Amino acid sequence: MKLYNTLSKQKEEFVPLEPGKVSMYVCGPTVYNLIHIGNARPMIVFDTVRRYMEYKGYEVNYVSNFTDVDDKIIAKAIEEGVDASVISERYIAECKKDMADMNVKPATTHPLATQEIDGMIHMIHTLIDKGFAYDVNGTVYFRTRKFDEYGKLSHKNLDDLRSGNRSLKVTGEAQKEDPLDFVLWKPKKEGEPSWPSPWCDGRPGWHIECSVMSKKYLGEEIDIHAGGEDLVFPHHENEIAQSECCNGKQFAKYWLHNAFLNIDNRKMSKSLGNFFTVRDIAAKYDLQVLRFFMLSAHYRSPLNFSAELMEASKSGLDRILTAVENLKSLMGNAAETAVTDAEQSLLSQAVAYTEKFEAAMDDDFNTADAVSAVFELVKFANTNAGAESSRTFVNQLLEQIRTLCDILGLIVDREEEILDQDIEDLIAQRQAARKERNFARADEIRDELLAKGIVLEDTREGVKWKRA
Ligand code: AMP
Ligand code: ZN
Repeated sequence: MKLYNTLSKQKEEFVPLEPGKVSMYVCGPTVYNLIHIGNARPMIVFDTVRRYMEYKGYEVNYVSNFTDVDDKIIAKAIEEGVDASVISERYIAECKKDMADMNVKPATTHPLATQEIDGMIHMIHTLIDKGFAYDVNGTVYFRTRKFDEYGKLSHKNLDDLRSGNRSLKVTGEAQKEDPLDFVLWKPKKEGEPSWPSPWCDGRPGWHIECSVMSKKYLGEEIDIHAGGEDLVFPHHENEIAQSECCNGKQFAKYWLHNAFLNIDNRKMSKSLGNFFTVRDIAAKYDLQVLRFFMLSAHYRSPLNFSAELMEASKSGLDRILTAVENLKSLMGNAAETAVTDAEQSLLSQAVAYTEKFEAAMDDDFNTADAVSAVFELVKFANTNAGAESSRTFVNQLLEQIRTLCDILGLIVDREEEILDQDIEDLIAQRQAARKERNFARADEIRDELLAKGIVLEDTREGVKWKRA
């Protein structure tokens, strides 16, 4: 399996640090609003990378954070007159709902920055002790020039960066030793959330969060670190500086970055008004269509979002879903006869589509070509399966399509509507499990219902439910 490493600017063979295992960190969103379809791109792309690695037999430890302390969250909290945690908790829940609807698997761990402050203080301490950071009146800065390899990820030259920055008069930053030094810890302002620290009551800088959460949940050296291309500089460059200076080891072996999603060939932005949340799209389409659309391009190519392309994705996905339905109905009527020699030979031919799919994915996760292989397999199935086919033959083709689509995170079996009575029955079973203090089973039932779009709410009057 080859993947393009931003660090070396080359495709490299993937060799995990530990055989059979993959440790992967993906920078998650700042939760102050509903996520937009740009944020959805790394979620879908790297979830697909994870699924493919799992298909290949790797055990993947996938960590993706929520940045739940940040200027924008605080601004929104002030605007609404509530605590910052009200805002972040609200939008984490909304984000998880969008992820579920896009069939993005929950991470092994979704750490929250506000729960990891101790680790951040500890890492900042170590950096100060080692001479890589300094405190000025309560603000702690990273001493960028002390790290010789600064710039290695973004392939930027330190001198160019410095001369570019010198002209920037950043207010309140005159106390820095060097314009490129960045904040690790900053004093609180009135009304902001803060934590005590040896330097002042305050809060962490953004970059230190990911260094600490990655170390805590994956270790000092990890296989893959990923995010959108806008994070290469300064966020990931700064993460490398912090982690490598603190731990004395290479932070991540492979750095993967997705290109941006544009709208009508222009950069998506709030100010231009060409901005869609995932929820906007969900009002018109099943979010599987959005997922399919994202995977129709290579993750390192800029992708343009337009109504026409979404319609094309919808019909593309429909073609697969219809083929699956046809195969299922053929299965229902097929004879339990032995697979004929002719069918056996067709099944051997069909293996070529899986090989093509794998070759595409092995080549830096070329999902565009992988999708083409699925289309070819669908066409092959449509042509060769019929009323006279044996059940085993039809079943094998169906399973082959299901397996490949599952790697892409596409659910091909159209959902059967869950009936009110079935929901009530499951709720009764959950109550019984709770009574027996079998909370694991109770949670399992809640999750099972959630997966079917049923949200439970425990109230004083009992359990209420609604269709999400
Ligand atoms: P943020 O909440 O801005 O830190 O973004 C969360 C993730 O979404 C990061 O990995 C960003 O790089 C990514 N991202 C933001 N906007 C876009 C976009 N228009 N296209 C692709 N990725 C994006
Ligand atoms: Zn990060």
